[in-house]
Amino acid sequence: MAPAPRYLTKSRFILALECATKLFYTGKVEYADHKKDDPFLSALAEGGFQVGELAKLYFPGGYEIETLAHEQALEQTRELLQRESVILYEAAVRYRNLFLRADILIKDGATLELIEVKSKSFKGSSPEEMLNSNGTILRDWVSYLYDVAFQKHVLTLAFPDKRITSYLLLADKNARATVDGLNQRFLIYKQNGRSRVRVREGTTREMLGEPILIRIPVDRVVEMIYQDRDGTDRDLPVGDLPFAQWVDYLSEQYEQDRKIPTELGSKCKKCEFRCTVEEERNGLKSGFKECWREQAGLEDADFAEPLVIDLWKSNSRDSLLKQGIYFLRDIDSELLQPKSRNGGAGRADEKPGLSRNQRRRLQVEKARSGDPSPYFDTEGLKAEMSGWVYPLHFIDFETTQVAIPFNRGMAPYEGIAFQFSHHRIEADGRIAHVGQYLHAERGKFPSFEFLRALKKELEADQGTIFRYAAHENTYLNIIYNQLQQADAREVPDREELCGWITTVAHPTKRNSGAWVPGSRDMVDQLELVERYFYHPATGGSNSLKKVLPAVLGSSSFLQEKYARPIYGRSLEIPSLNFESWSWIRYDEAGTPIDPYRLLPPIFEEAEDDDLEHLVSDPKLADGAAAMIAYARMQFSEMGEPERQAIQQALLKYCELDTLAMVMLWEYWSRELMRS
Ligand code: SF4
Repeated sequence: MAPAPRYLTKSRFILALECATKLFYTGKVEYADHKKDDPFLSALAEGGFQVGELAKLYFPGGYEIETLAHEQALEQTRELLQRESVILYEAAVRYRNLFLRADILIKDGATLELIEVKSKSFKGSSPEEMLNSNGTILRDWVSYLYDVAFQKHVLTLAFPDKRITSYLLLADKNARATVDGLNQRFLIYKQNGRSRVRVREGTTREMLGEPILIRIPVDRVVEMIYQDRDGTDRDLPVGDLPFAQWVDYLSEQYEQDRKIPTELGSKCKKCEFRCTVEEERNGLKSGFKECWREQAGLEDADFAEPLVIDLWKSNSRDSLLKQGIYFLRDIDSELLQPKSRNGGAGRADEKPGLSRNQRRRLQVEKARSGDPSPYFDTEGLKAEMSGWVYPLHFIDFETTQVAIPFNRGMAPYEGIAFQFSHHRIEADGRIAHVGQYLHAERGKFPSFEFLRALKKELEADQGTIFRYAAHENTYLNIIYNQLQQADAREVPDREELCGWITTVAHPTKRNSGAWVPGSRDMVDQLELVERYFYHPATGGSNSLKKVLPAVLGSSSFLQEKYARPIYGRSLEIPSLNFESWSWIRYDEAGTPIDPYRLLPPIFEEAEDDDLEHLVSDPKLADGAAAMIAYARMQFSEMGEPERQAIQQALLKYCELDTLAMVMLWEYWSRELMRS
């Protein structure tokens, strides 16, 4: 059998835009790849398939090129394009080694309209709103606009006699659904390993109400890209190339399977070709290590050392790497001096504790001295703790943004909250998982019920409430706004709910001035970590998923306590989802296994960590598994046993999220008692 042609497709082109070296590793089974898509899960992650299907209903009467086989798809497209006028979905177009499938291609005589459908929301009406004030492309829009630029380029080469215009079709944040139940019209299902969308029978264009997608003409920006006036760094070893030559270069290197060496940089931090220890043990190759060996001369033992890319929230990483500084230990503290009074990317406030710059220096100092011990600002933490009121409440929300609205009056990608977990600590130290909520009912907007349940659990006392990161505060603000817009007849307790939000949350920028935060405004445990605590084993990340294993690894108190089966429904620490559970179990090296790894993955198809790349907002990465699980329950066909299994998994995960906060609190309290 002839080998499959090595076409530079639009997704490979976008991969090369991130890092051209990745073209060499992609698609090779011998390399670990954490971005290997499960098309079904990615279809669920951000609603892309549903938006795609809705788009087709807005451009009706077209022909879908269904086959995935390149040659067959090209042939069918060629044939249909013989017609004077035609609309094609998933048209296949090739020019030499360049290949694309266009979401919507409309032929009308000598013109071709290319419509790229993206499940991304846009709160504007013109392409200029995708640009910075200096005329360069906003970072968020680069890959979308380059995607169109690539497609228009290939179409121009393939159809030189046609006039080609290009558009992005986006979820319109200014639009509101004018009908109820829109999102339940699109069900996702799997067929022969492919993700498909079934539109509910009898759905007509009228039933969709006013459009919630907006068509943005992007030719002007695409032209800027062609003329290299868009300000994007294309990161090539051969220097800057005009767009067309750059595409030729990429396609040639890819066709010949030649590695394109590019500079190491911050981009490497999230490189999907980095192996876990287990993957390496199983014989998979690490593209990440290959690059760092080849470019920086690192040897195997060096990868145990913290690298410059681990430097916390720093915009100096690229310049340090350019100077040949690869390890944290080699950074001269002078190089971390703030550029401005407030520390460049540092804190712009007078709050106590570490500034961002001091934290980075601490990280470097610990790496330089090889000191694995955690840093505590005991006085700072004590001062914070003195203001806390018992019982302490630890809460965590699971939320999502649904592409197509549930109800009339809602915008695409409106934030919704569907799950929370709640642990409580009494003044005498008793800990319990006391509450949870999960709204899994199909087709119902969950946020107001969610809020009622949360309020009921937290309003009985004045205890301090803890969240981890801004997410919970952001979502209470979102629900506040949704309530403000709701019909008071449909939500009779609207004022009461809004009033309660103002007691436990502070207004976000969008709600600035809407209320004065009260004394019970939630305490952000992440902020406490950033100001008063640093553990070298976190690798510079403050995500609770990194902080928890680090803390467990260095606390014999927690290890002894949670190695016993004290956690369960009627045990010492009552739980709502576990019967009898030991959170501490050890691996072969005698290290406590990350408690998240003790839980079975939510999906059989993928490890939870690998789902993170399916959501574009990095702030939501930790909740990706829950988002996808919720979408699966809403928008895919499943039997009751599967639904129950997903619900159970979600409840356990969310419970661990708040238990992790409790464990961190216990660790701090213990250390402070000893100090
Ligand atoms: S390690 Fe860095 S240079 Fe190598 S493929 Fe990954 S991102 Fe690109």
